[in-house]
Amino acid sequence: MLPLPFEAAFTYASDEALVPGTLVRVPLGPRMVVGAVWDDVPDAGVPERRLKPVAEVLDFPPLPESLREFIEWVAQYTLAKRGEVLALGVKANLLIEPKIRRKTFEFGAADAGQAGPALSADQAIAAAALRAAVGAQKFGVTLLDGVTGSGKTEVYLEAVAQTLAAGRQALVLLPEIALSVQFLQRFFARFGAMPAVWHSELTPAVRRATYRAVATGAAKVVVGARSALFLPFAELGLIVVDEEHESAFKQEDGVTYHARDMAVVRARISEAPCVLVSATPSLESVENANSGRYQRLDLPARHGGAKMPEVLALDLRKDPPERGRFLAPALIAAVRETFARGEQAMLFLNRRGYAPLTLCRHCGHRMACPNCTAWLVEHKSHKRLVCHHCGHNEALPEACPACGAEQNFAAVGPGVERIAEEVALVFPEARALVMASDVITGPKEAAAAAAAISAREVDMIIGTQMVAKGWHFPHLTLVGVVDADLGLGGGDLRAGERTVQMLYQVAGRAGREEAPGRVLLQTFSPEHPVMLALLSGDLPAFMAQEAAERRPGHWPPFGRLVALIVSAMDEALADRTARALSRSAPHGAGIEILGPAPAPFALLRGRYRRRLLMKTRRDLPVQTLVREWLARTQIDRAARVDVDVDPVSFM
Ligand code: ADP
Ligand code: ZN
Repeated sequence: MLPLPFEAAFTYASDEALVPGTLVRVPLGPRMVVGAVWDDVPDAGVPERRLKPVAEVLDFPPLPESLREFIEWVAQYTLAKRGEVLALGVKANLLIEPKIRRKTFEFGAADAGQAGPALSADQAIAAAALRAAVGAQKFGVTLLDGVTGSGKTEVYLEAVAQTLAAGRQALVLLPEIALSVQFLQRFFARFGAMPAVWHSELTPAVRRATYRAVATGAAKVVVGARSALFLPFAELGLIVVDEEHESAFKQEDGVTYHARDMAVVRARISEAPCVLVSATPSLESVENANSGRYQRLDLPARHGGAKMPEVLALDLRKDPPERGRFLAPALIAAVRETFARGEQAMLFLNRRGYAPLTLCRHCGHRMACPNCTAWLVEHKSHKRLVCHHCGHNEALPEACPACGAEQNFAAVGPGVERIAEEVALVFPEARALVMASDVITGPKEAAAAAAAISAREVDMIIGTQMVAKGWHFPHLTLVGVVDADLGLGGGDLRAGERTVQMLYQVAGRAGREEAPGRVLLQTFSPEHPVMLALLSGDLPAFMAQEAAERRPGHWPPFGRLVALIVSAMDEALADRTARALSRSAPHGAGIEILGPAPAPFALLRGRYRRRLLMKTRRDLPVQTLVREWLARTQIDRAARVDVDVDPVSFM
């Protein structure tokens, strides 16, 4: 099996018998690639003398059977090609050792014998349950549901300690590994060593060393992004998925898989327990816990007597910001009080850049991306208009491309840069820090930002969703949400759920130690169920309401969805293909086909896009239905059909 987009394995000749999983170097056309010996029956159609020989057997432990089975399972479930799934772990050049080895890397040495903190009664109960699950060396899923700051991390580190004590390996998945500095520091404090880290930005040398250390068992704990699921663990004893509700766990390109769901599968195949952790669990996991499929552990209170923050709505209809500004007087007053107490404040707006829309005051022309159905976002710091979808960028023109009016553009709406500008105007003495992915570009920048905040070198943090993730800033007591309604438009199935989760997480950054926290939500609809849930803090009631709304129509998790995204450079071809798929769509009891319809991004990176959505009862074999559907449809080579099983994004 080659880590390339092929479904079939290739047949080569070898003098020695090679066990399945053995990594080899083989010729493919003019080049050499690394592949894995697979369990398939060799292709008998090729005469033996014409088979190319294996060039080299790599000095590397064979990929374990559990990993090969997992790869097969993921390919079958996502309808991806097996080679593509193999490629999520094995890169074609991964295992080729450089001629000169400059550095050696050390792993592991995490000390499970070192004592953790004294746990509260609730924490101790949860930790004991997790230790028991690890000790049983059996598959099972636990949902660890605890409010922000309740010590979920401390509790699951106890499960990691138990895994180490049993001599097995633990995998901790985090949604955004670049932002994991605080986690790594805590891990170091607990175990006296750093875990192995796995994400897409490792240097080739570190990547190679880590891959090997995981395969030999030298790396005992791996902290990684979703692709860490595809590492060749010698003896996996635990998987933890932290912030399990995060949509960042869903990979949207190539093999579209949900790392949370696949973590459960990986754990089952490896006969290991899986722990899903969140203060705002997904409805999927909540329902699995309610039905008894998952064990549930609750941590209902913050650690050390810290109170949950007080959440208030600011009705922008009654108390609007000044003209051309975005912070309401009540929010400005609250920030002032916070600064007066020597505490820190955070403003949250999930939008990068300066302004999401630039238009000509004279003719109303809007600056749009030439490749996508999207407005260009002004980034003042770079003096560019940028497409957030394809990366297209251009200078702000002197004259309107439509009417020629000069220097007459209006920036419409705010991004974090514009909020930072307003903060500088209103609080000229405040030291402000913007946290967004174009400023905080990697682990180094994130670590520096976190250190500056903890050292109180910053008064005000202005950030995108990046600030919602797990941070613990002791002196931060006020969180202002600039536009609480932002995520609610668009009619996405999970818009409400996702907005509640994100805002609850941001709110959870406030008042995590002695000083009490306060959260102000700027909204035009304080009576919206999402706002009411945040004001009351009663997330279970909100989720129960979500469940009641989704159940009758068989929406997930009470039914299943598969999206088919048709795309082509030629618009008519995209339409023709979508119509052909519509005509050949499966039908029958419990199957509903929605669309075809232009995708919300009807044009993306220069391709025209149409969507079809298949909604079925839970018990139907959706993969078989889709496979047969595609097989009986004539699809032009110039058109592409991407299949997304269990879609999270509907764009
Ligand atoms: P969560 O993951 O639920 O948001 P954390 O594990 O980050 O919560 O805990 C919040 C803060 O409280 C952290 O600084 C953590 O170190 C501290 N903490 C939690 N439990 C304990 C404990 N039993 N003893 C000492 N500190 C604790
Ligand atoms: Zn674009």
